[in-house]
Amino acid sequence: MLVRNGGEAFCIDSPIFPDELEILPAIAEQSDFSIVGVLATHADWDHLLGGLAFPGAPLGAAENTAARLINEPGAAQRALRDFDDEFYVTRPKPLSLPGAQQLPVPGHIDIGAETLELHPADGHTADGMAVWVPWARVLVAGDYLSPVEIPMLSPGGGAAAYIATLNRLEPLVEQADHVVPGHGGPIDGTRALAILREDRAYLEALQRGEDAPLPIARRTKAQRAIHASNIKPR
Ligand SMILES: [Zn+2]
Repeated sequence: MLVRNGGEAFCIDSPIFPDELEILPAIAEQSDFSIVGVLATHADWDHLLGGLAFPGAPLGAAENTAARLINEPGAAQRALRDFDDEFYVTRPKPLSLPGAQQLPVPGHIDIGAETLELHPADGHTADGMAVWVPWARVLVAGDYLSPVEIPMLSPGGGAAAYIATLNRLEPLVEQADHVVPGHGGPIDGTRALAILREDRAYLEALQRGEDAPLPIARRTKAQRAIHASNIKPR
């Protein structure tokens, strides 16, 4: 998603398909969004493609995300290649990730005359941040609060950290006009709060060792596969 204040704009996370990435600079330009940087909520490959749309824009991320990029060299490129192979996607150029500037999390970064708030968001993975846009009352949640995906515990993540992140984000969600999740479209604050409560209940059931029922709107085959992975001993 793109966020602007005054003459500065950031691209937070990224679309993944080449046609979406190709059209993004034109959309930014038409809307008078001058992209000064690309932010990634975490180091999973599908959040790191902003540089393909805005080459030369510096990448900013939480310290633990920058560390993951250093400690897992080539991981994002390999995951991107696997995705592209599976879905027959070809790209005009390869993904280069020259390393991320570390942002203070929790902390703030300036944009135009305003600041974005950066909140720690780990649990889905070992790293991450959520971005609160105070003047627009928008929360950019990364891979939390998705209307289409149940909580996914990746290696390095865990239910306790995930629940702590949901608790940390809850007061922001309560004030939010919109929440922008990494998967699925933007949702209003009321729906996001309902999803937050469903996700917390699901994770608490996992912690109790119960076979947690999936939220009604997210019981697809793909979500059952994520659930099976979540309950696998790690
Ligand atoms: Zn992710």
